[in-house]
Amino acid sequence: MRIVVLGAGVVGVATAYLLAREGHEVTVVDRQPGPARETSFSNAGIIAPGHVYAWASPRAPSILLKSLWREDTALRFRLKPDPALWLWSLKFLANCTAERNRRNTLVKLRLALFSREELHQIAAETGIDCGLSGKGALYLFRDREHLATGFANSALLREHGLEIENADPDRCVELEPALRAARSKLAGGLYSPVDESGDCFRFTELLASAATQHGVAFSWETHVESLSVERGRATAALTSHGRLKADAFVLALGSYSPSVARTAGVRIPVYPVKGYSLTVPIDGHAGAPHMPGVDEAYLVAFARIGGKLRLTATADFAGYDTRHAPADFAPMLKVARELFPDGGDYDHPSYWSCLRPMTPDGPPIIGPTRVSLRSRWTG
Ligand SMILES: Cc1cc2nc3c(=O)[nH]c(=O)nc-3n(C[C@H](O)[C@H](O)[C@H](O)COP(=O)(O)OP(=O)(O)OC[C@H]3O[C@@H](n4cnc5c(N)ncnc54)[C@H](O)[C@@H]3O)c2cc1C
Repeated sequence: MRIVVLGAGVVGVATAYLLAREGHEVTVVDRQPGPARETSFSNAGIIAPGHVYAWASPRAPSILLKSLWREDTALRFRLKPDPALWLWSLKFLANCTAERNRRNTLVKLRLALFSREELHQIAAETGIDCGLSGKGALYLFRDREHLATGFANSALLREHGLEIENADPDRCVELEPALRAARSKLAGGLYSPVDESGDCFRFTELLASAATQHGVAFSWETHVESLSVERGRATAALTSHGRLKADAFVLALGSYSPSVARTAGVRIPVYPVKGYSLTVPIDGHAGAPHMPGVDEAYLVAFARIGGKLRLTATADFAGYDTRHAPADFAPMLKVARELFPDGGDYDHPSYWSCLRPMTPDGPPIIGPTRVSLRSRWTG
């Protein structure tokens, strides 16, 4: 089958690779000059079955409300005259029951474990080295009440087969000696041995090369404008470089999938949620962590990526605005200095921000759409 994959982030490139490996003729289209230049570029790279909790939870509405009049929270929700935001928020609120939170978290857990296996399988068969850290991840808590909630929440993952250890501050330092200076700030943590981190950008770049060897063609600097639909089936993608016909289309445009899907009459409940990422060199600094993790008090993630220390944070409902200013990164730098005083050269950070494609329930949208993105059935 001839298949066009729209988007060359980690999702589009991995999909293209797997489709080509199954014998399909695949073309990938992206507006950037290479793979993983947007959200997949500078994320924390944590592969985190132990941190799959759906954001929509019984506690989420009060956290959203508080963030309306506070600037310093990790979550920045803003009321804007944006119908897409209102619709998304209503669906998000509908998912904030304990029952739906549990169901959504378990869907994410199954998918995270499956994806982790696939990642290892692809790395083994292609020889891709994306710096997988192995050895687990640590989720850190600074106060006892929050820690007790963390321990209680982790019971759900444990009940479903995930090994997670409750760790006191000494155990946290034993697992990650770079936390020694911050020991007195910690109430404890959760250690998930199967979690790890890797360089998402490097993985996607190398996988794009491997995909080329399987015959995948890439069309760079090509903007996807719309989809043509005839008799309920997508027949072509209209791009800045002309019309691309195919038997099937895969939408992997991240936060931008909804606008292209809409041209085919398909509504996708994805809203962009901006995140911030900073990376510092660690040469000459002995105190960078080896194990990835999250400071749950400030929701700052940390990981060693490509010989540097990366920190990411913040869920900013700023629409499609990807701008950032140094002030956006100040809380992350403060957390980094507290946890890892000699973790890197904090005076020379690289800044980045990008949009998380967020669904209101949590799990990604995978599968056929109402309008078939297959133009004809070829068996
Ligand atoms: C700060 C931050 C930290 C994160 N940390 C983690 C983490 O630790 N672990 C984790 O699992 N996830 C993390 N994520 C989420 C993760 O990065 C994303 O889920 C993932 O990168 C999404 O990949 P994607 O391929 O769907 O989207 P993208 O990487 O955004 O790819 C979409 C592609 O579509 C292209 N495109 C868009 N519109 C068009 C168009 N009209 N025409 C042509 N091309 C177009 C873009 O150029 C882009 O290449 C983080 C996200 C952020 C923002």
